[in-house]
Amino acid sequence: MTEPIHVTTAIFYCNAPPHVGSAYEALAADVFARYQRRKRGKSNVTFLTGTDEHGEKLKRVALAQGIEPKAFTDRMSAVFRKAWEGLNVSFDYFVRTTDPAHEKFVQEMLTRTHQRGDIYFADYQGLYCVGCERFYTEKELLQGNLCPEHNRPVELITEGNYFLRLEKYREQVRAHVARNPQFIRPERYRNEALKMLAEPVGDLCISRPKSRLDWGVELPFDANYVAYVWYDAFWAYFSAPSIDDPGFAARMLPRTEHFIGKDILKTHAVYWPAILLAAGMTLPGHINVHGYLNFGGARMSKSSGNVADPVSYEKVFGPDVLRYFLMREVVFGLDGDFSDERLIQRYNADLANDLGNLVSRVLSMVTRYCAGEVRASPGVATRIDLGYGLPAAAAEKAKEFYDAIIGLPKHVDALVDGLDFSGALLAIWQALGKANAYIVATEPFNLVKDSKNSKLVEAILADLLEMLRVTASLLEPFMPATSAKILTMLNVDAQTAGKSFGGGIQPGGHKVNPPVALFPRIEKPRSA
Ligand SMILES: [Zn+2]
Repeated sequence: MTEPIHVTTAIFYCNAPPHVGSAYEALAADVFARYQRRKRGKSNVTFLTGTDEHGEKLKRVALAQGIEPKAFTDRMSAVFRKAWEGLNVSFDYFVRTTDPAHEKFVQEMLTRTHQRGDIYFADYQGLYCVGCERFYTEKELLQGNLCPEHNRPVELITEGNYFLRLEKYREQVRAHVARNPQFIRPERYRNEALKMLAEPVGDLCISRPKSRLDWGVELPFDANYVAYVWYDAFWAYFSAPSIDDPGFAARMLPRTEHFIGKDILKTHAVYWPAILLAAGMTLPGHINVHGYLNFGGARMSKSSGNVADPVSYEKVFGPDVLRYFLMREVVFGLDGDFSDERLIQRYNADLANDLGNLVSRVLSMVTRYCAGEVRASPGVATRIDLGYGLPAAAAEKAKEFYDAIIGLPKHVDALVDGLDFSGALLAIWQALGKANAYIVATEPFNLVKDSKNSKLVEAILADLLEMLRVTASLLEPFMPATSAKILTMLNVDAQTAGKSFGGGIQPGGHKVNPPVALFPRIEKPRSA
């Protein structure tokens, strides 16, 4: 598998700092990108994220704080970037829509689309508040068509603007969604998109007159206008990689994996495909849609003020706990619940008990019984005939253990490819359970009391070390810091880390390091 792939998050609108809901998207895309790098090689994966920095709303927020929009977005964009870096989001590109190279790319796409005849000038009619200097939809207004900010009537005004021929491409986009069941996934969102595309969508106003809004990318064919913020932001998926590689977008579009939230399904299922087709481009490979994260029973969103700060979790627990919790707890595509109580429950049960204790137990035994040395090849415990051998019940557990760990990499791989991150972690934890059951059934800590069993103990411990290696390697996309810590304790290099069970840790001088605690138990909920 050496075909390249391009992975993107949405381009985050940076009028407020990121919340755990936006972190969820960045982390899901990161897990996916990291898995793809393992499969395809690093050079065959590009992973892009960034901040969307233009538009009316952002300018208003900046001016309300008494700063220029650019100074405001410089600050906010850095907050996003730092948050993602702290959580080990392994992006190759962090695009800002105010980057000159991005703006130039947007202008190229506008020129192309204009020359192809898919942009036209016409009157736009809408309900406008002079105080706010913006149009409102009827839904946004108070009763009696009053501005919600100023509590006074809005005016019906007419303004010349540029439009993109959206309706022209509707049938082509609908047919593509219908013919390609995986284009928009999971299926519930594909069905929603098909419904949106079954009715006329009209054309899309893609400009704003500078007299009203100057915070945007200037139209290359009319200096009195800037581009509508959405039109501008979409191209961030391809602008930065195109600087050194002008063919990037054309080549990578069919191999692009967009990760987005369900609130922007319409823009990605209706607008973005038409914008691409109007620019003479092809459609992206997949649009992967996730649900909302609820916090205390309500949707986490900037506007509701109901947010949890991902950086605070990183500061308290390190990067991996939030990563693990969100990927394990939330089923991709469905809404999920976020709470500190649940996070601490999972921390104690899954991380401290199942994973942390197993690692510490196995390494302690190797340190104490074998002086930290690997003295057997993995996979021989059931074949050892030393007079003692494994009793039937223990041999049964050993077989279950082997079956679980040998089949695990393929199983996890298929689940991640299908966006079932939660299922992949569940499968890994089931294998950890088999390893714990193997220890309970064979009792190496009792066997070791009789020196005639030493070969058997060495064989069992070799199995367990090898199992930890395979598991640590599979956990890398989900918990990169923890994976690295376990592999360091096991004293294996990157190349050995990725081998299949039985081909990694071998006897003949290999020594492991004594255990260090991974996840100390939390007795009390942390204070907020
Ligand atoms: Zn107003």
